[in-house]
This record gives sequence, structure tokens and C-alpha cells, in this order.
Amino acid sequence: MGNKFTSGKIAIADCDRCGQQFQLKKLKALVIRTKITNIMVCPQCWEPDHPQNMQGMYPVYDPQALRDPRPDLLMYPNSPSRGIQWGWNPVGFNNVLQLPIPDNLEAQGGVGNVTVTTS
Ligand SMILES: [Zn+2]
Repeated sequence: MGNKFTSGKIAIADCDRCGQQFQLKKLKALVIRTKITNIMVCPQCWEPDHPQNMQGMYPVYDPQALRDPRPDLLMYPNSPSRGIQWGWNPVGFNNVLQLPIPDNLEAQGGVGNVTVTTS
């Protein structure tokens, strides 16, 4: 008994995505969610299975909550991580919690003396 299928070395087929004709052996099957589909596409239309399609397939342990959280004591201006103040509406340091923090954003300035001499 021979093979049930011909070699197909000169067979022509249409890409299932763009519709252009290609040699059948150049078309590749799309893989979606790790399953090989019956969608045969040309090399330009073929794309690898995107990892985003595999959401929920594998257990992910990524907890976000923190047990026994503590207040952020680094909020004070002398700490190295929060030495920069920022704020708007109104412009200036917005001390919502009324913490004993000086407002470094308050503008201060002055005008010197000018002496005008006429002769
Ligand atoms: Zn195509």
C-alpha cells in the first residue's frame, strides 16, 4: 500500500489570514493557547503564541498585601528618601495629615536697597 497523501511539493494554498497564495509547504499552523489550530498562515502572518493568551493556565503566586504594615516614617523631610517636597492646588506643600513638617515650597524673597543719585 502506498501513502494516502501525495507529496504536495507543487501544491498551492491560500493563507487563511491574508488570502495570498503560497506553496502549501510554506504555510504554518497557528498555535493559540498552546493548541495547534487548523489555521494555516503564511510566514508573514504567522506569529508565536503570545504569553498573554496563557493567563489562568498556570498558577501565579504574586501577593500584593503586606501583613502588619507600619506608617511611612520616611515622610519627614530630613530623611534621605523624602527630602524633596512637591504640591499643587494650592501651590506648596500640602500637609493633609498636619504633620510637623516645614513647608519648604513656600516662596521667600526680598528686594535690596537701591540708591539713586542725581547731580
Ligand atoms: Zn498571510
